Amino acid sequence: MNDALYSKELVCPVCKNKIEVTKVKSKACVVSSKDTDFCLYYEGINPILYEAWVCEYCGYAALGERFEELTDKQAQKIKTGISPYWKSRSFNGERNIDLALEAYKLALYNLQKIEAKSSELAKVCIRIAWLYRMKKDEREYDFLKHALRFYLDTYENEKFPVNKLDEYTCMYMIAELYRRTGNVDEAVLWFSRLITSPGAKENKVLVEYAREQYYLAKEQKENSKQIS
Ligand SMILES: [Zn+2]
Repeated sequence: MNDALYSKELVCPVCKNKIEVTKVKSKACVVSSKDTDFCLYYEGINPILYEAWVCEYCGYAALGERFEELTDKQAQKIKTGISPYWKSRSFNGERNIDLALEAYKLALYNLQKIEAKSSELAKVCIRIAWLYRMKKDEREYDFLKHALRFYLDTYENEKFPVNKLDEYTCMYMIAELYRRTGNVDEAVLWFSRLITSPGAKENKVLVEYAREQYYLAKEQKENSKQIS
């Protein structure tokens, strides 16, 4: 195995088998650049490729950070809705983008089966979009739109902070995903809503990003007017 990778042992919360997952050593993770929707690029291995874990025995898949946080009821839904159709297959060891995409899509399918909250679906969809971006695959935009739909639902129906996501970062993601998927009117609206929110002031960096993207979206809006 690649030097930057290591195995972690744990017990699958669904089938209770002892399993292994592959992780990236944190000292091997050096960020080289960042996109305006917080997609990170790394000098070496990109740890995003390893964030979706899969149990090879039962087909349970989830983001590593919440893999073990499963209620009995949710585990039961996976046992009846996924495991009977699962053909044993390992996602351990070095992954390329395609294998990572398969792991994330399994995680997405699992979230749908357990009727997970929109914030969780948004998190997986945005990562699938980023992986497609790394491949320069147009399907990126389908998943940016899915992520946008789930961030909007999170904003309307969940109580902030949702895990590490605060209200203003959620607003930023909505605005930026509107911009990236070509709806500049909504992007301008959400960026200005964020910039003028009194509560957002504490997060100076985020407001600064929002201001830059607000002008960019305005410019896109002007350009599209000139063309049409
Ligand atoms: Zn399992």
